[in-house]
Amino acid sequence: MSLRFNAINNLSATQDVSVDNASRITAIFGENVFNVKTAREFLSDEAYKSLIGSIKAGQKIDRAMANQIASGIRSWAEAKGVTHFTHWFQPLTGTTAEKHDSFFTIKSDGTPIEQFEGDALIQQEPDASSFPSGGLRATFEARGYTAWDPSSPAFIMEIGHGKTLCIPTIFVSYTGESLDYKAPLLKALEALNKAAVDVCNYFDRNVTRVTATLGWEQEYFVIDEGLYNARPDLVMCGRTVYGHSSAKGQQLEDHYFGSIPERIYAFMRDFENEGYKLGIPLRTRHNEVAPAQFECAPIFEEVSVGVDHNSLLMDVMDRVARRHKLRVLLHEKPFAGINGSGKHNNWSMATDTGVNLLAPGKTPKTNLMFLTFFVNTIKAVHDYADILRASIASAPNDHRLGANEAPPAIISVFVGEYLTKVLRDFKERVTAKMDETDESMLKIDIHKSIPELLLDNTDRNRTSPFAFTGNKFEFRAVGSSANCANAMTVLNTIMAATLRKFKSEVDGLVEKGEKKEIAIMHVIREYIVAAEKIQFEGNNYSEEWEKEAEKRGLANVKTTPLALDAMVTDKAKKLFENNNVYTHQELEARHEIELEKYIKKVQIESRIMGELATSHILPAAIRYQNLLANNIKGLKESGLNESAFANQKQILEKISEHISSTSDLVEKMIEARKVCNNITDTRKKALAYQSQVKDAFFDQVRYHVDKLELLVDDREWYLPKYRELLFLR
Ligand code: ADP
Ligand code: MG
Repeated sequence: MSLRFNAINNLSATQDVSVDNASRITAIFGENVFNVKTAREFLSDEAYKSLIGSIKAGQKIDRAMANQIASGIRSWAEAKGVTHFTHWFQPLTGTTAEKHDSFFTIKSDGTPIEQFEGDALIQQEPDASSFPSGGLRATFEARGYTAWDPSSPAFIMEIGHGKTLCIPTIFVSYTGESLDYKAPLLKALEALNKAAVDVCNYFDRNVTRVTATLGWEQEYFVIDEGLYNARPDLVMCGRTVYGHSSAKGQQLEDHYFGSIPERIYAFMRDFENEGYKLGIPLRTRHNEVAPAQFECAPIFEEVSVGVDHNSLLMDVMDRVARRHKLRVLLHEKPFAGINGSGKHNNWSMATDTGVNLLAPGKTPKTNLMFLTFFVNTIKAVHDYADILRASIASAPNDHRLGANEAPPAIISVFVGEYLTKVLRDFKERVTAKMDETDESMLKIDIHKSIPELLLDNTDRNRTSPFAFTGNKFEFRAVGSSANCANAMTVLNTIMAATLRKFKSEVDGLVEKGEKKEIAIMHVIREYIVAAEKIQFEGNNYSEEWEKEAEKRGLANVKTTPLALDAMVTDKAKKLFENNNVYTHQELEARHEIELEKYIKKVQIESRIMGELATSHILPAAIRYQNLLANNIKGLKESGLNESAFANQKQILEKISEHISSTSDLVEKMIEARKVCNNITDTRKKALAYQSQVKDAFFDQVRYHVDKLELLVDDREWYLPKYRELLFLR
């Protein structure tokens, strides 16, 4: 029996995995995290103070204290049955990395002991030379090292019955270049902090720290493990390269917010419990629009913690799914013709005085502060839309952006009807002739209930890639499999740059004798006007918008190799260097790595398409072709006239045509790959893979294979069909 039918048979025998119900989430929340409370318990006063000091200042651990802190962490971990530790980091491959070492060691006199020294906590040198470095390590130093970032607490990862102590680290080369997602993110957050504090101080001298906040919403598909295993394309590239749409897809929209299927519900509760133990504040779970598609979202956190938690949860979801004989698909577009998955990044900024800078205020003064940050965000997106677009570019996200149910590749900002009016009024009222003593100008009329107005779905645009949703912006174009860090690094950097410029312009006017508030209002007005073309309130999925955006001169870069160009322009280099986020070399290296990732993904997909066509599709089609041919031959021989086998002949003709087209195209696709592989320039190679392999063949080959799926005897078809993948569980 083929894997497909085996999987379908086994479905009814699948037993739900029982999941312990946490009586209260607070009872398990953070139990596997070495948090401040645990630190208090396991560390001496001296070590505790030193650790908390480092966390607050965002600095490395004091070397002198390292041994004490390490041994405290070990005692805590051992009490929980942990034997191994690892430095946990987020390399540019897009997954998380770990290399386990045991506490166990043997002293020089042969005595076996368990120990965890300060050095092992602070810094490690994993032999991680196979991680992408974009040539950085080839040019500078062969090795990279991982260093603990104490702002992110140590945690225990439970896998089956094994438990490992994980130390969240950054990954850098010996000469200091970032080799991961985390290091540049921390730099961008620091740049934002400085720039935002300066601007806050116009309004409130008490603000000394601004942190960016992130609340991600993770969309994903879940399918049965047996069916998954019978689809080599899902196993190899996370998406189906073939598959005819099923009679029922998502047209009834009966899945959205529907009751969660039992088996999936058990899986959700299970990964949520694991998440709670790791301190991930999961809050929301529901069905998404497509069949077999779901979403989860936590309460928002500081960006760096939010990024770690998202990476960690993606990993946890994958592991827990296996426990339930399920597979989680984080790919942006696992199924053609069915909604893709995104990862909305809800983002805002908060002061250490407890103010959300994107929440409208209650007094004229706080309203002016809100408007300052609100308009600066719009201006930042306007000025750096190309770099923001590059931050979300990836081979899998290309299948989603611009497909008819996802935000387009055009970056625009939605602010809602009410704030559009506020900005318009502001523009009209703030004029050069404005009376400098006219305090009434300060009474910008902002409705106190903007958040409520926007939270009410009537004024929420779900098609916008970057939408204001009452007290935060929601960057929706981020892909479901992406590490949020990339988008967050760029967003926080462009915000820092814009705020710095804003401050220098305001200060300039003040030096010329303008009153501070009036100067702020003038610059805000100027930014509103300058950034007008990025604002769009209509349907982003429509064709009219594509035309309109072109008229406005907004970029619409649909493919990754081209979108990535924006990473290495002079503008980008200046931006990242001025904000101390990336050096030119680091940018060039990252550009190279992203292009290489793109090439490899398209290459793998193309190979799997060829392999499946030759070894799965064509054999089945040819067997059925033979059956028909023999049938016709037999009928002919028994003396029946043409009309008796006219239909069979027609089917045979169709099948034969699709067989030869498939086979021809696959051959040509292989040739095209060979040509691409000879190109040495990485950018040109990526462009060639995109146009000569992906665009030239993928849809065409798929067309014929999907036709064959409809024609060939169902019993002969090896690959689970869409109806099975999406509806059986
Ligand atoms: P949806 O977009 O699905 O309607 P919500 O608007 O309720 O969902 O919220 C989505 C996410 O926004 C949640 O993860 C929430 O934590 C996050 N969020 C709320 N306030 C902020 C904020 N100030 N900064 C960052 N994220 C926030
Ligand atoms: Mg959302």
